[in-house]
This record gives sequence, structure tokens and C-alpha cells, in this order.
Amino acid sequence: MRKHFGLTRADIILLAALLLIAGLGFARLPRVLGQNAVVRVSVDGASYAVLPLNVDTTLEIDGYSGGHNTLRIENGRVAVIAADCPDKLCMAQSEPLIVCLPNRVAITVDYE
Ligand SMILES: [Zn+2]
Repeated sequence: MRKHFGLTRADIILLAALLLIAGLGFARLPRVLGQNAVVRVSVDGASYAVLPLNVDTTLEIDGYSGGHNTLRIENGRVAVIAADCPDKLCMAQSEPLIVCLPNRVAITVDYE
């Protein structure tokens, strides 16, 4: 029997099947975790909004001292899609924790 790198054709098919199953599992993981998850938004330490993670939505956040952030929840993922802070660090972050220091906005995802 001809072999490729010590693997038989059956081995390769099995490996491919396992990788496919593993891949599907990882792809589904955020949605499974997100069933009862909530997104908590706070401004300057005070609760600002609590949103379900499994409902796609956009939230305009009025931050500290006139600052402004736009939060987007989509497909179980959370992101700041617009911000008027000078550093824009919040736009590069993702769940479970996004912090905008200039606007004193904190966005956390609670997977309970
Ligand atoms: Zn920011």
C-alpha cells in the first residue's frame, strides 16, 4: 500500500473528519456560550446598559465628559465600531472586556 508521510488513505480521511468536527465545534462555541450571556455597559463606574449578547444591536453610548462610543453586538461578538476618544484603543479590543479610558466606558460580557 502506498503511504503519504506514514498515513494511510483511511487515516487521512479520519483526520480530515476529526478536524472538520473540531472546526465546527469551535465555530459554534461563541453562540453556545452566548445563549444566556449579557453585555454590561458602564460609564464612569455606573451601570449604563445591560443587553443580551444573542440579539444583534447597535448602542450609542454617551461617555464621560461628552465622549461618545458606538457599541455593536453581532453574531455573539461585541465591538466598538466608532469612538471619539483620541487613542481609539477601545476599537481594537473585543469581548470579554472592552475599556475606553478617555470616555470612562467599560463593556464586559457576562457568560453566565
Ligand atoms: Zn476609546
